[in-house]
Amino acid sequence: MREFSLIEKYFSSQTRQRKNNHTALGIGDDAAIINVPADQQLVVTMDTLIANVHFPAETSPHDIAYKSLAVNVSDLVAMAATPAYFLLSLSMPAADESFMKAFSAGLFEAADKFNIALVGGDTCKGPLSISIQASGFVTENNYVTRSGASIGDKIFVSGQLGAAALGLAIIQQKINLTDAQTTHCVNALNRPEPRVDLIDLLKKFASSAIDLSDGLVGDLGHILTSSDVGAVIDRNKIPACLGLQVHGLFEYALTGGDDYQILFTVADDDLTNLIIAAGQLGLELFEIGEIVDQGYVLLDQDKSIDLAIGYSTLRGFDHFDA
Ligand code: ADP
Ligand code: MG
Repeated sequence: MREFSLIEKYFSSQTRQRKNNHTALGIGDDAAIINVPADQQLVVTMDTLIANVHFPAETSPHDIAYKSLAVNVSDLVAMAATPAYFLLSLSMPAADESFMKAFSAGLFEAADKFNIALVGGDTCKGPLSISIQASGFVTENNYVTRSGASIGDKIFVSGQLGAAALGLAIIQQKINLTDAQTTHCVNALNRPEPRVDLIDLLKKFASSAIDLSDGLVGDLGHILTSSDVGAVIDRNKIPACLGLQVHGLFEYALTGGDDYQILFTVADDDLTNLIIAAGQLGLELFEIGEIVDQGYVLLDQDKSIDLAIGYSTLRGFDHFDA
């Protein structure tokens, strides 16, 4: 199949079936035209996923597409932005219809779920790689950054950690778990669920936020650096999946990537209202520690581990690590 017919069959025709107020002009011209509401700011982000770096090469095209969009939406959520539209740059080795069919199905499953519209992109031949540029809106200045944490703020995470990293370890045959646990963990790795259900809470109550893509210890570290503060977190309050605490695999919850839960801080004055609002929405949140003036410490019963001096195995993922 030719490039244009592939784009028409698997991307343009799909977007035409979907209604969306943001797109004044979608796929098919030299550029797309977006309606930007007068009182809003545009929040833009981009993430690239490369085979064997961000996903095992044997991952299904459906999952690859789903995850590519999900991780971008997660970055918008971390800013408390409402997803609006995205662009897709797809590089693939061949114009393979069965790949495109599954990829398009996964992409639009995610797009519909997270309420975000495909408006254009680029398609070329090369090693499998997916870049998505996603945009969302916030009402003027009503966004959340990494730099707003203050001393005394409580630190929360939005859900259980470690399952995705365990999923990868299982695929790489480093760890063996039961079939049910394997399914759960591999699913967490391949189908991350960006927490779009938290956007309103973050807008109202979060002093800072980040999405957990590279592991709790490293990602909280980014908040501390940006906000110029320290933190004390409690190992026993960190929600680890599958009872990792008891299986000697707790490091997966501390440093495992790809969870896409949100880590955020909340000022004391807002705590009661946060808890009431979360209860009304049926959302479970986990308070794991507190912002302090300096230092970065993990409490573990009577021990305290200094995370600031680079407890090496607890560092986050870094593409350029030696
Ligand atoms: P140009 O050569 O002018 O850049 P292209 O041939 O790359 O145009 O793209 C034609 C149209 O198809 C454009 O509207 C572009 O946004 C869209 N498009 C190309 N690839 C993709 C893709 N992977 N996903 C969505 N839209 C795409
Ligand atoms: Mg082009």
